[in-house]
Amino acid sequence: MTTTDTTTLDAVVIGGGAAGLNGALMLARSRRSVVVVDGGEPRNAPAEAVHGLLALDGTPPAELYRRGREEVRRYGGRVVTGTVAAAAPLPASPDGDLRFAVTLSDGTTLTARRLLVATGARDLLPDVPGLAQHWGGAVVHCPYCHGWEVRDEPIGILAVGPASSHQALLFRQLTDDVVYFTRGTELDGEGRARLSARGVRIVDTPVEEVVTGPGGGIAGVRLTGGEVVARRVLAVGTTLLPRLEGLEGLGLPVEDLPGGAGRRVVSGMAGTTQVEGVRVAGNVTEPMAQVGASAAAGALAGAHMNAHLVAAEADAALRTSGQAVGGRS
Ligand SMILES: Cc1cc2nc3c(=O)[nH]c(=O)nc-3n(C[C@H](O)[C@H](O)[C@H](O)COP(=O)(O)OP(=O)(O)OC[C@H]3O[C@@H](n4cnc5c(N)ncnc54)[C@H](O)[C@@H]3O)c2cc1C
Repeated sequence: MTTTDTTTLDAVVIGGGAAGLNGALMLARSRRSVVVVDGGEPRNAPAEAVHGLLALDGTPPAELYRRGREEVRRYGGRVVTGTVAAAAPLPASPDGDLRFAVTLSDGTTLTARRLLVATGARDLLPDVPGLAQHWGGAVVHCPYCHGWEVRDEPIGILAVGPASSHQALLFRQLTDDVVYFTRGTELDGEGRARLSARGVRIVDTPVEEVVTGPGGGIAGVRLTGGEVVARRVLAVGTTLLPRLEGLEGLGLPVEDLPGGAGRRVVSGMAGTTQVEGVRVAGNVTEPMAQVGASAAAGALAGAHMNAHLVAAEADAALRTSGQAVGGRS
């Protein structure tokens, strides 16, 4: 896609992960002209498989999104690989409807009546040398995504804050060998007692680095002073930030998540935002949502977007026909 599309689309979906593709599927099946622009970097790309997703458990992420793109195209939706570099509202169309301009990094521009932003979130890992290279493999964050796969392994929790003690208890459900590295974070007496009561060993000595073994996996955690605590798997909490690069022109309001967990785009019912005509779905607004919940949010946003377009079109038709509009502002 390298040309400028002069037609006004019903919707552009920015981001083609679970949320964006399901939103587009609802729109395409409602005979809406819809283009999905997707950069092809879903959050779970480093993972081998999607877990906890009914009927599709164990599907590799790339396969899931391939099938999703195919389903959108089956109903006439277009899915293009590309990055949205700019998006902004345009002056209203002659019939008073909303319009937005979306510019891709290759220069293509699209005009749409509505936007669904489903760009996901970025995980910022704690700054521990040697950690990042294992992300999505032996470094995990979510017991529901990959907890079963690391059951019975020696697991280390690299604490990032008080909430990490809860993460430790969740992983303790999956293995009886858990070590909690406090890394200078707060852990009060009750927190310590709870972890100890569940057999979790607490290490307060600062962590220096994650040690990679000869086979490429994690061998352990090196502490200040040189001791290496043998671990095969590490769990961390990440800071989650909405992916809004290039979308600043939309002015979507963001807010902090509780407990310093990151940020999210503020949204209301079915992904509405304070920017009329722009909805959001998936991790960009619900950073804790897994694939199923993200897809469901996208589907709901897509369906509501269609419903609003239907209402706007009925209003416009009524105006054109010259009949009085009663009971609707
Ligand atoms: C390592 C890891 C493993 C996981 N495993 C599981 C699991 O097993 N089961 C599970 O249910 N959940 C899992 N998750 C969570 C899962 O990744 C998210 O729930 C899901 O990806 C959210 O979907 P989304 O559509 O909101 O965002 P994403 O899937 O991240 O999709 C967003 C898309 O938007 C694109 N994009 C962003 N900005 C732009 C732009 N400017 N222009 C164009 N495109 C753009 C991105 O390239 C990406 O393709 C895992 C997460 C991680 C980090």
